[in-house]
Amino acid sequence: MIHIILHFIIPLLIAFLFYRKRWRNATLIMIATMLVDADHLLADPIYDPSRCSIGFHPLHTTPAIVFYVFMFALPLFLSWRDDLQKYQSAARIVHLAGLGLLIHMVLDITDCFL
Ligand SMILES: [Zn+2]
Repeated sequence: MIHIILHFIIPLLIAFLFYRKRWRNATLIMIATMLVDADHLLADPIYDPSRCSIGFHPLHTTPAIVFYVFMFALPLFLSWRDDLQKYQSAARIVHLAGLGLLIHMVLDITDCFL
């Protein structure tokens, strides 16, 4: 139960600390990344409290996590280029979604050690 609460509290804290001007939007985008758990529907049983999600569910594997790192980092590089400024709001959403997914993976991996 604490695990699920952390999936809401940590994005809220990060949004408030690092994206204060738009903390509501940032929180919503990061919490929306909980949809990544839709890949649990492919597993049988769908929910197993003793299972480690990381490396098991397709969207919780290393290639997916590498992609989330790119989602998080790429918009930061694009923001340096003046000719790409018109994509800034889309880049911000991709950046926050990537961050939300990375937070999700960090929280999920804690389950693997408990
Ligand atoms: Zn998960």
